Amino acid sequence: MSGCVFCRIIAGLSPSQMVYQDEQVSAFRDIHPVAPTHILIAPNKHIASVNDLTPEDEPLVGHLFLVARHLARQEGIDQSGYRLIVNTGRDGGQTIFHLHMHLIGGQRMRFPMG
Ligand code: 5GP
Ligand code: ZN
Repeated sequence: MSGCVFCRIIAGLSPSQMVYQDEQVSAFRDIHPVAPTHILIAPNKHIASVNDLTPEDEPLVGHLFLVARHLARQEGIDQSGYRLIVNTGRDGGQTIFHLHMHLIGGQRMRFPMG
């Protein structure tokens, strides 16, 4: 998906602050962080949203969570806590249609949002 901004970042064709990459996922800092830690974790293959996941993606989804756990430790926020968010579709506030998980922490957050 050459027109997809996250595919370009993952391929190294657009600049980013990449913090983790393996054969399945990439993680890079959000360009507009809302907290001291704000990392986006995305599958390397283009999947538009949660709506486009298939049963064969189940291990990939599990891997996204384990990478989030690894990065939370690396950022030193695993004990203080953090929030994982996957926005989906218009009402979910999704603006980039390449599936990604936000890892946000380093400050106390309010809930519920809305
Ligand atoms: P969404 O609203 O789709 O869940 O989140 C998209 C996120 O991507 C936003 O938080 C936005 O700041 C971030 N973002 C948009 N364009 C870029 C970019 O080119 N580079 C990086 N690192 N983050 C981006
Ligand atoms: Zn993409």
